[in-house]
Amino acid sequence: MSMQQMPEEKTSMQAVCVDEAGRLDVKHVPRPEPKNGQLLIRVTATALNRADLLQKRGLYAPPPGESEILGLEVSGVIANIGPEVKGNWMLGSKVMALLGGGGYAEYVAVPEELIMPVPSHLDLHQAAALPEAWLTAYQLLHFIAKVKPNETVLIHAGASGVGTAAIQLVRLCRAIPVVTTGSPEKLKFAEQIGAAVGINYKEEDFSEKVLQFTEGKGADVILDCIGGSFWEKNIRSLAMDGRWVLYGTLGGKTADGDLFGKLLGKRGHLLCSLLRNRSLQYKAELVRSFTEQILPHFQSTDPPLRPVIDSMFNMEDVEMAHQHMEANKNIGKIIIKIGT
Ligand code: NAP
Repeated sequence: MSMQQMPEEKTSMQAVCVDEAGRLDVKHVPRPEPKNGQLLIRVTATALNRADLLQKRGLYAPPPGESEILGLEVSGVIANIGPEVKGNWMLGSKVMALLGGGGYAEYVAVPEELIMPVPSHLDLHQAAALPEAWLTAYQLLHFIAKVKPNETVLIHAGASGVGTAAIQLVRLCRAIPVVTTGSPEKLKFAEQIGAAVGINYKEEDFSEKVLQFTEGKGADVILDCIGGSFWEKNIRSLAMDGRWVLYGTLGGKTADGDLFGKLLGKRGHLLCSLLRNRSLQYKAELVRSFTEQILPHFQSTDPPLRPVIDSMFNMEDVEMAHQHMEANKNIGKIIIKIGT
């Protein structure tokens, strides 16, 4: 092993910490050590997720055993290899990873099963936009809804991190994406990356547009991160025997009215999914399947899949990045630059 390939040995690092008032602050904290089966990643970039906004307010605790530091995904290079690692990993290789926490930091230790190589056409800032949003969209479409070619998929928050990935993945499997968003600019973008129809939910009843587009049949699948405020229109938009996949509650957690009656009338399947609290074994299978089935398409030209990046912030400006997301201003992912 040459000097350049020696594992790095300092014991502290910078990380974004949450103070008692819920403010974000860059501090020195102990650097994690890779445990059995883990690699240490020197982080180039992380990306924001809606879950980070909740976690900093104490509303979404990390699963047991995960880092208290925010951050569900990173890109970077391998800085150290822990004991009992099975894969043929090389120090210095460019990687990206799905995390249970700990991404807003200069280093993170990650089980090797959750680490993916960076597709050759992407730089490390683009790669940070992939793991959480794309694995979530892939999981919802293929593990949960089991979407088939020619099916219509209604995607809410079509310009979100997950939404922009879902539109491209629906097109890739030759199904038909229909999206809702809250602004003309977001609708235009969603259509540019493949949405067959975009509906501004603030200006029109999306269920009427969905029924019109599907000639009365309704959507076969709904990817729903809104919940409460959309439930009635969702059931109206759903095809008979359709799959309604609930994976977020941005529009509230309660539903007043005849939810069960209306769902039963459609023989609808309500499927709920959270990625973060899944077992390592489940996530490992998801990462393996995504790496085999989807990552090669980031290199194809037919047309290539692409991560959608809204903006990039320095680590010191992470509070501004959170405000940007909180105000629903982003189209795609917000990246935080951590190291070089
Ligand atoms: P994001 O990029 O921040 O985008 C969220 C967008 O949702 C907002 O920009 C806004 O766009 C729309 N929105 C916000 N409040 C709304 C409301 N009350 N009604 C309708 N639309 C609303 O989000 P993200 O990080 O991709 O996450 C998207 C969702 O997926 C979040 O709910 C997140 O918690 C969930 N998620 C779940 C999992 C899981 O495993 N279950 C994993 C990852 C993410 P408009 O301007 O179009 O309204």
